[in-house]
Amino acid sequence: MARLISGKDIAAAIREELAAEIKELTAKGNRPPCLAVVWVGDDPASATYVRAKGKACEKIGMQFKLHHLKEDVSEEELLSLLQELNADKEVDAMLVQLPLPKHISEKKVIETIAPDKDADGFHPYNLGRLLMGEPTFVPCTPAGILELFKRSDIDTKGKEVVIIGRSNIVGKPMAALLMQKKTGNATVTVCHTATKDITFHTKRADILIVAAGQPKMIKADMVKEGAVVIDVGIHRTESGLCGDVDFEEVEPKVSAITPVPGGVGPMTVAMLLKNTLQAYKMRMR
Ligand code: NAD
Repeated sequence: MARLISGKDIAAAIREELAAEIKELTAKGNRPPCLAVVWVGDDPASATYVRAKGKACEKIGMQFKLHHLKEDVSEEELLSLLQELNADKEVDAMLVQLPLPKHISEKKVIETIAPDKDADGFHPYNLGRLLMGEPTFVPCTPAGILELFKRSDIDTKGKEVVIIGRSNIVGKPMAALLMQKKTGNATVTVCHTATKDITFHTKRADILIVAAGQPKMIKADMVKEGAVVIDVGIHRTESGLCGDVDFEEVEPKVSAITPVPGGVGPMTVAMLLKNTLQAYKMRMR
């Protein structure tokens, strides 16, 4: 039976550490850190994520400012709100909940957020620094996965890591972090929709990270005996949530695996809180 890597428990421990740090800072008379979230429209999945972020902030003594805009808000109005938040001294970090309605350019939105308030770490400046191995705001999901490795004593040095997915928010930053000496030192392969033989790669992986957005695509015959499997996917099905990995099939064959729910998801939120506290500390220096 595989070891279950509980993101839920690890994220709870991180939240406690952050709460203690915030308590100490505010006890000295400082204002609490503040995260602003801009949400456009009424997408139900986004509603769940925004609520979870708000709750998580409040629980650790962080301020949460929600700006909920109508679906038909103009791009200009949204960008001007972001400029206001950039200039607001009471806001330490911010993010715009994705996806956005089609008439709004995601690229323009991401590039308008000040890099030093970029809670999600999606700004090209921060992604560039990440690629160069410089300190930066790391996108929350890859940051959460590194933290899972660290706190579960999984050493990535010299390992064959295979990542499925090349998105700007998961696959690419994950690959950059894991290949870098300081943050991974692994040999990294990235698979995507044009990869000819996915199984050839996944079967070689000591560590397999799946962020393809395809429910249960990874089956037992695609993984190596004793591998570590990190499942980033989240899918709502009639029988509840599932990931990109067929957990029932794969779990008996591997040495460690993240569940869905309770794996990578809670870590993503915990890293958002960590990034916000990092932005706050930079501002208060
Ligand atoms: P995306 O759709 O932007 O990217 C998916 C990537 O997977 C693409 O690069 C594509 O080339 C690749 N891909 C798709 N199908 C494939 C296939 N059959 N074989 C090989 N490669 C394939 O998705 P994303 O934003 O990176 O998210 C991926 C999944 O992770 C989604 O299910 C998303 O909901 C989930 N997600 C979860 C968290 C979390 O906190 N747990 C955070 C972000 C994303």
